Amino acid sequence: MPATRDYYEILSVEKNADGDEIKRAYRRLAMKHHPDRNPGDPEAESKFKEAAEAYEVLSDEQMRVRYDQHGHAGVRGGGGGPAGHDFNRMNVEDIFSMFTDIFGGGGGGQRPRGQRQAVPRGYDLETEVVITLNEVLDGCERDVEFTRLDVCETCDGSGAKEGTEPTKCATCGGQGQVMQQGLGGMFRIATACPHCRGRGSIIDDPCTDCRGKGRKPKKRTISVKIPPGVHQGQAVRIKAEGEPPPPEQSPSGDGVRGDLHVVVVVEEHDHYTREGDHLLMEMPISFTQAALGAELEVQTLDGKATLKIPHGTQFGATFKIHGEGLPSLRSQRRGDIVVLAKVEIPKKMSEKQKQLLRDFAETEDKTVTPESHGFWKKMKEAIAG
Ligand SMILES: [Zn+2]
Ligand SMILES: [Zn+2]
Repeated sequence: MPATRDYYEILSVEKNADGDEIKRAYRRLAMKHHPDRNPGDPEAESKFKEAAEAYEVLSDEQMRVRYDQHGHAGVRGGGGGPAGHDFNRMNVEDIFSMFTDIFGGGGGGQRPRGQRQAVPRGYDLETEVVITLNEVLDGCERDVEFTRLDVCETCDGSGAKEGTEPTKCATCGGQGQVMQQGLGGMFRIATACPHCRGRGSIIDDPCTDCRGKGRKPKKRTISVKIPPGVHQGQAVRIKAEGEPPPPEQSPSGDGVRGDLHVVVVVEEHDHYTREGDHLLMEMPISFTQAALGAELEVQTLDGKATLKIPHGTQFGATFKIHGEGLPSLRSQRRGDIVVLAKVEIPKKMSEKQKQLLRDFAETEDKTVTPESHGFWKKMKEAIAG
């Protein structure tokens, strides 16, 4: 079954997300749900496929327009899925290799055709860390756990059972690639050998530990420093904490590891809304404070500040507390707290307060609703009783 959920929802992006955001979202999901990193988890596999389908449609300008106009029906191809692909029937490896250009390294879209990279490089990985606004203020150090594919220690990455060796693939002669006719037979393109999946060798007797893959998912925890002033969606890059080069490029894993991108998610705060390096907050003030002016105590992220509001403050007036916002990632200079005055009208008043306000209203020469609890209340009670 092709996906029925909204593609934007699947990738967790806004309807107006640009190509880069869509790419990043897909890369994150593909890395997270890749079945190799989640062995024996069918839910991860279906999530992986669902994300690939969403990405295929939303990364193609024309298909995206059709999808925006007609929904899923606008992009269904012959195979039941968009553009003729039915990802649910496809092999995970094949789906993954469709989009290798976005995974940084690995099968490498930038690699000149038919040539191997001088130094093989592994895939980049992405993981998330959720931090609070207070941690944005001071910076923090957090342990992040992630799963990466590492070289199988039992077979040293060869994928072959102990005491056996992989044999050269007869289909591609050990090249890992075969030439295929391109669109309409106009040109020929090199693609991964379908027989050996690009490895150039065949494993007759697979290693029982990694089932011939040469790689095993391993959990790893590292400590990551998040700098003060970091913004939602920014990533801290940890060099060489990604994966070793894939087995078809370097069975032993020799070469350069990919990087780990730790994407920062900032939790919402109860009182503050972030606007760049400034913090916005609403502050309820009484109508007497608004009318007469007041000195208020404001809770800042790391303490307290005094805010003087002048007499005659109107609803929606804003006041700045300088230098109590968040630090700039670059200069570390702190932004401001911006306080929005929310003037509140009392719902309950004592008799004395009511009388004072009635006297005040008289000085304004304004008519107000007459007291209801006296004469009229007695009348109602008389009728009801
Ligand atoms: Zn192995
Ligand atoms: Zn082959």
